[in-house]
Amino acid sequence: MPEEYRGPRFESRHTTASPSYSAKPAIRKTELEQRRLLVECCREFYKFGLSPEYTHAGGKGTAGNFSIRTKSGFLITGTPKHAATIDTEGLVNVHGGELDKNKVISTGLKLPSSESLMHLAIYSAKPGVGAIVHWHDDKLLEKIPKGVVETDGKAPAGTVEFAKLAAKAAQSIKGTTGVIALKGHGFVAFGKDIDEAKRAALKFY
Ligand SMILES: [Zn+2]
Repeated sequence: MPEEYRGPRFESRHTTASPSYSAKPAIRKTELEQRRLLVECCREFYKFGLSPEYTHAGGKGTAGNFSIRTKSGFLITGTPKHAATIDTEGLVNVHGGELDKNKVISTGLKLPSSESLMHLAIYSAKPGVGAIVHWHDDKLLEKIPKGVVETDGKAPAGTVEFAKLAAKAAQSIKGTTGVIALKGHGFVAFGKDIDEAKRAALKFY
């Protein structure tokens, strides 16, 4: 049974603001491009059935979350979101946080993904990683493919413990590309950029 969606469990210092994409045109262009890549990624995983729908208080959302490292932190899908309708403004800038204090600092029109702590923990543990994709596939979880590192234990999604288990598994993989299985939950692939992370994930399909 998939776990019920509970929204972010971390404490958030969140500022609601439209994306400014920073003042400098070059940075603005880069961030807009990163936002487009993430929207495309959401759609792709949804199309493959890897971002299943769930119901939340405000309607239907889709599971799975995607991020790209930025100069000041990372850009991640907001919550709740639906992969079929998300646009570049549905993404959130995470500027940092404190894993042990269950804290995330962010700016955007939505709250950052409920699994932002996991992304934060993996980026901290793996400095060469530039993008992370997280998807759900119960069938693949039944028989974890060779080369995929499974987390040591299970924890509720979105918790500090969950993030730490993921980061530990990611750290056990040498290099900047790899796939981990989050016991009883789903998968994470990472890469030096979003193309590499997507390739690592979609090779199973
Ligand atoms: Zn998940």
